[in-house]
Amino acid sequence: MNNRTERITKRLEQLSLISDDDKCLSRFFGTPAHNEAKNLLMTWMEAAGLLVFCDSLGNVRGVLKSNQQNAKHFVIGSHYDTVYNAGNFDGPLGIILGIEIAQRLKENNTELPFHLNIACFSDEEGSRFNTAYLGSSVLAGNFDTDWLLRTDDCNVTLSEAIETYYGNVEAISNDKILEGDWLGYYEIHIEQGPVLCKENLPICLVSNIASQIRVEVTWEGISAHAGTSPMYLRDDALCAASEFILEVEKTGQKHQEKLVGTVGKMNMLSNTSNVIPAFVCHSLDIRSADSDFLIEIQDQLQHKAIEISKKRNIKLSWKVMQMNPAVICDSHLKDVLRKSIKKVGIDKSIEITSGAGHDAVMISKVAPVSMLFVRCTDGISHNPEEYASPEDIEVALKVSDQFLDELIKEFN
Ligand SMILES: [Zn+2]
Repeated sequence: MNNRTERITKRLEQLSLISDDDKCLSRFFGTPAHNEAKNLLMTWMEAAGLLVFCDSLGNVRGVLKSNQQNAKHFVIGSHYDTVYNAGNFDGPLGIILGIEIAQRLKENNTELPFHLNIACFSDEEGSRFNTAYLGSSVLAGNFDTDWLLRTDDCNVTLSEAIETYYGNVEAISNDKILEGDWLGYYEIHIEQGPVLCKENLPICLVSNIASQIRVEVTWEGISAHAGTSPMYLRDDALCAASEFILEVEKTGQKHQEKLVGTVGKMNMLSNTSNVIPAFVCHSLDIRSADSDFLIEIQDQLQHKAIEISKKRNIKLSWKVMQMNPAVICDSHLKDVLRKSIKKVGIDKSIEITSGAGHDAVMISKVAPVSMLFVRCTDGISHNPEEYASPEDIEVALKVSDQFLDELIKEFN
């Protein structure tokens, strides 16, 4: 392991110790651990010689400025929030590699034809406020002020969470990079799937990112005594939700070549063993590489939910929280990345579709995007077992250094 890879693995370890939960890694947006991680990232970026600031949404941003007039921005980014019971690599790997890439260019006094930005996004997973890509939406100028009213499980609004640690919600729109000022975006991420392990490759290109729709579904029935209410006189919200959830599974299985569907989060009332549940609110997450097909599936599932609610006399609410069309990675950036992979001595290069969403989805609304995947053992992620080896990380760093060198050559 060379010194740089050693520094990266040590930092990954260090960051993984910053958690809001004693027993596992959990770092949601706007918590004490999240704020501590932000401060540590700022220290590392300053040590790398970047101009560092934290924007109004807690995105840590470090810039190496170009001396050229009218230089545009090239951004390398990933996120530092995590899911609950997370692994050490999802998000932080891309950030820490980004800092390392910038540090080499700074130490070599490289003349940059673009402003190189390293962006540590404050919220990508959306675990607390159900707002995926929140951090990157700020840079892309796509932050929706309606999100400020969203609440977490303790009824704290996003607006309150922002103001506790990061800043003034009024200033969020000033933190964007103007659409015409983007040159491109690059993100390094663990694959979160098994293809690289199967192909025995350390890294690969991402060709596109699947389309994703997130819905919040609520079912309202009537709470009643579990002992005295006969089965035929119940308006059980959980039974309605359960019937629907199995329908989601069936639909996913029917189209398994091109669709996945998941209900991963659920709250219910009164959550007591002897009361018939009157209220259930759950998530729905559906994804496909084909955006039009996914919209069709969303309609079908909504239809099915309406049918179930009518049959069972349950009030239904269907709220689309997020709808992201599929993203195609930029063909030119991909060519440069492919060339870089070859130059570091990897002859076989494959391209895969990302089923997982990434900040690149949000940035793609304003800039050409590119992504590199790094092998993670058995494709496991969102899990403490998540692992990428130092050897593979070293390859990702070499490829990325080469990629930046090629881009600098091209734009100089
Ligand atoms: Zn991630």
